[in-house]
Amino acid sequence: MQTLTNRAKPVDRRPMTLAERLYVVNIFKGMMITLRHMFKKKATIQYPEQQRPFSPVFRGLHVLNRDEQGRERCTACGLCAVACPAEAITMEAAERKPGEEHLYREEKYAAKYEINMLRCIFCGLCEEACPKDAIYLSETFARSNYKREGLIYKKQDLLIPHPIEQPEEYRKALGNRAKQKQSAN
Ligand code: SF4
Ligand code: SF4
Repeated sequence: MQTLTNRAKPVDRRPMTLAERLYVVNIFKGMMITLRHMFKKKATIQYPEQQRPFSPVFRGLHVLNRDEQGRERCTACGLCAVACPAEAITMEAAERKPGEEHLYREEKYAAKYEINMLRCIFCGLCEEACPKDAIYLSETFARSNYKREGLIYKKQDLLIPHPIEQPEEYRKALGNRAKQKQSAN
């Protein structure tokens, strides 16, 4: 019979021999395959104890950035929201009051900043559009959640730790950016 690939094999319907009925040979063959794989280089790793290095172009969870003094960089200009093809970003701007210069770098800041992670496609256009280096996509995964509201990230979820008050957490959140900064200096 003509088949499409000519790889079809007719079913062997001969009665099994004694050795075949005992399955010893086939069990031994299976054990040999298992044994061979024990000494091969493993394709998997013990996550989360072991982690693979991220690609330099990996785009993960967003971070709202601060400057070296810990002031929020975002000036609520809205360019990231305009650039976002998924319309995932919303914000409300507010004027900086006298005495708040240590909190906000610019005269205007984002009083509210939200990213809907259910809409986000991690394209990175918000980062590219930002003129203030105020937002970037880090090497952190977006956390899973059972509720939709839990995936609308608020400003406090996105803000990077304070570089002076929490230097260790700040360096960790910087990830690859910390290495890039070091090599630039
Ligand atoms: S990564 Fe892309 S989709 Fe996600 S918030 Fe930024 S611009 Fe929008
Ligand atoms: S993150 Fe950047 S682009 Fe978006 S509102 Fe703030 S300053 Fe503007």
